[in-house]
Amino acid sequence: MNASGQVIVADTAVDRVNLLGLTRAQLELFFLDLGEKRFRAQQVMKWIHHRGVRDFSQMTDLSQSLREQLDRIAEITPPHIAEQQDSQDGTRKWAISVEGGSLVEAVLIPEGDRATLCVSSQVGCSLDCTFCSTGKQGFQRDLTAAEIIGQVWLAIDSYDAWQSGKGRVVTNVVMMGMGEPLLNFDNVVSAMSLMCDDLAYGLSKRKVTLSTSGVVPALDRLAEWTDVSLAVSLHAPNDALRNEIVPINRKYPISRLLESARAYLDAQTDKKRVVTIEYTLLAGVNDSVEQATELAQLLRDYPCKINLIPFNDFPNSGYTRPSGNAVSRFWQVLTDAGFVVTVRTTRGDDIDAACGQLVGEVVDRTRRSARYQAGRHEQGLLQSQE
Ligand code: SF4
Repeated sequence: MNASGQVIVADTAVDRVNLLGLTRAQLELFFLDLGEKRFRAQQVMKWIHHRGVRDFSQMTDLSQSLREQLDRIAEITPPHIAEQQDSQDGTRKWAISVEGGSLVEAVLIPEGDRATLCVSSQVGCSLDCTFCSTGKQGFQRDLTAAEIIGQVWLAIDSYDAWQSGKGRVVTNVVMMGMGEPLLNFDNVVSAMSLMCDDLAYGLSKRKVTLSTSGVVPALDRLAEWTDVSLAVSLHAPNDALRNEIVPINRKYPISRLLESARAYLDAQTDKKRVVTIEYTLLAGVNDSVEQATELAQLLRDYPCKINLIPFNDFPNSGYTRPSGNAVSRFWQVLTDAGFVVTVRTTRGDDIDAACGQLVGEVVDRTRRSARYQAGRHEQGLLQSQE
């Protein structure tokens, strides 16, 4: 696919087009370019996203010759699972290996009849929020649309629940994993279009949430492309503190961010929607009663609900999780001020809870094992020289 959105039909096996990440419109263009009818896109989307089929020869409603042609020029390739962890509370977390060998994370959190998949948009992240395990890994690259929607595909596949009648494996998606989604705008918009498309995952736009730390120019144009739910990672009640812990605030301060998020809401047809304000509580940093009062003042009359997230510790983070009492006091101030406030319960405590942590550990183990292999190799060389 080139920058202007045209599908480039490859003619060698080396440059196969990965159909997994193509939106309905892009897939229709792909088939029109092949001289096929538009509706082929609908048939193939159902095979990929409803039935989890990757092998063109199994797509029995396509002609034999088209199946053979697709086999030569296209592929359906999700990323692959490097490691899976299952928590006793049902949370499932994956370290997912993407092209080039890098790892990203996805986590599925079941809760009653909901199951929320937290999806990554980049390998690492450049925004360097001080309390974030992913930020400490630096930025490597954007994920492709196939690698983003591939996380939804993999989650369903890992339960072997394609059209199984077991109920939906994924009912909600939050773009809140590794990376800043608005810095990978086109691929994230394409993947979210597939999440909401009935021929793919058919999720309601209210159940797909994009979370941003405040890339305001991209947020300003988001409403032209999508109408999913919006979350803003605020984490501080004033610019002085937010400049420190969310460095992008130095470029786009809180007032500008909130104004842009409100404009996104105003552009929606559903006027009842609100922005979710994400606020990670860090002990002794942003969790005082005074700061709760300041936050209530900042968000007065703003169309929002507030989600408090007690910090999930990770090695060398430099921060600690506030006590239960501190969280309750913060919640109380906001609730008394009339806000709808939720506190994120900790899930997956027995697996690596903080985002980015599982990847850190897998990378660490991989390096350890590489060092071990190298050590053995050197030892072998020494012995053979003796
Ligand atoms: S919190 Fe989000 S935007 Fe900030 S560094 Fe971590 S992944 Fe990036």
